[in-house]
Amino acid sequence: MSLTDNPIEHLLRARGLRVTRPRLAVLEVLAEGGHLEVDEITDRVRQRLDSVSVQAIYDVLGALSRAGLARRIEPAGSPARYERRAGDNHHHVVCRGCGAVADVDCAKGEAPCLDPSAAQGFVVDEAEVTFWGLCPVCQVTTDG
Ligand SMILES: [Zn+2]
Ligand SMILES: [Zn+2]
Ligand SMILES: [Zn+2]
Repeated sequence: MSLTDNPIEHLLRARGLRVTRPRLAVLEVLAEGGHLEVDEITDRVRQRLDSVSVQAIYDVLGALSRAGLARRIEPAGSPARYERRAGDNHHHVVCRGCGAVADVDCAKGEAPCLDPSAAQGFVVDEAEVTFWGLCPVCQVTTDG
């Protein structure tokens, strides 16, 4: 497969982004799934590319987020995490015990999915919904 057949490369071009090796590598890492901290993304990108600075990773994540190719979430008490799944207004459930994050589909699918009882004159474009609880592992380990 030649480099130009790479679907991730097409994705970048379609969003008006120049194709660079760090951008390709970060998108590949995010495409593996999950909600990844910058440290983890950096480690995995470095397994693919010889050298890339943490600042370069932050720059790439910023560009991808602005282009709608990645989503940044920052649950209270947690460092920022990035994921490939963007643009569908899905929500998250976060474990109070270990910080695990899982996706929760939005019943409505588009923002804002909750209407404020009084918008106070604001034009509301998003309701940020985060569910909190204990993941299956922590439910077991905190019993007794
Ligand atoms: Zn947990
Ligand atoms: Zn998510
Ligand atoms: Zn929703």
